[in-house]
Amino acid sequence: MSESQTLPQTPLRAQSPFELRVNLGKHVPESDVRAALATGDMGFLHSYTTGATVDGPGVRVVAWTSGCMMRCLYCHNPDTWTMGNGMPVSVSTAAEELRKYRYGLRLMSGGFTLSGGEPLMQHRFAAKLLAAAHTMGIHTALDTNGYYGARLSDAELETVDLVLLDIKTWDPERHRHLTGVDIGPTLDFARRLAARGRPIWLRYVLVPGLTDDPEDIANIARFAAGLGNVERVDILPFHQMGTFKWQRLGLDYTLKTVQPPSPDLIGRTRVLFRAEGLTAY
Ligand code: SF4
Repeated sequence: MSESQTLPQTPLRAQSPFELRVNLGKHVPESDVRAALATGDMGFLHSYTTGATVDGPGVRVVAWTSGCMMRCLYCHNPDTWTMGNGMPVSVSTAAEELRKYRYGLRLMSGGFTLSGGEPLMQHRFAAKLLAAAHTMGIHTALDTNGYYGARLSDAELETVDLVLLDIKTWDPERHRHLTGVDIGPTLDFARRLAARGRPIWLRYVLVPGLTDDPEDIANIARFAAGLGNVERVDILPFHQMGTFKWQRLGLDYTLKTVQPPSPDLIGRTRVLFRAEGLTAY
């Protein structure tokens, strides 16, 4: 399918990722979805926001794609798991929207972040949109769990100025329990980024009783420090803001009674990363 054929030109409107969104792309025929994924001419966005300050350096435009291969027990946006919950957007529409912000973003030392869901579920669309932003002189960041990192070519990686990489946990069995998939591909992607000198900001979601094992954290810290390209570590405290989405989607949410981590636990986690010489927030 080419862009001029059947693409619905959904107008982009900035909206919070914390709003539940379902079935925005349900009207797109399955064959068109497959064609769009193959070419990257169209993608599915759950939402996009402007003015974000926590998803990379400076002030940023952030687009959240729909579709994810993981099923993290703590996911606060389970409505992004299904591709068809996102709104169909052509890559040219998304790029034109970004173009409006390019001077402002540069002025505020910011850029564009592609997040999800998991953006590399739509790796052709992700590669095209990141390349378009890069060509406009906009700083680009890819927020990913890294599982499909191998889908990006070396040349495509050159258009990504920063990778925000989630490492969920270290122990392989715990990783499978927590996310439903193996940790190997994520670690391989981290090593490849290191070999190519692409900077990483590591993201670590801290969940009491699930991802707070000091030995596990120390192993991640050691791995990250050994890579040599991890510029900083952001510890993201678990919260319950997505609980209503699990309920509304009829999903079995097992963390109902889990409390956000205490300041003391966050502090101790930071210390474990800093002990390896990493900058951790
Ligand atoms: S990788 Fe992110 S979007 Fe996917 S299930 Fe995990 S937390 Fe949710």
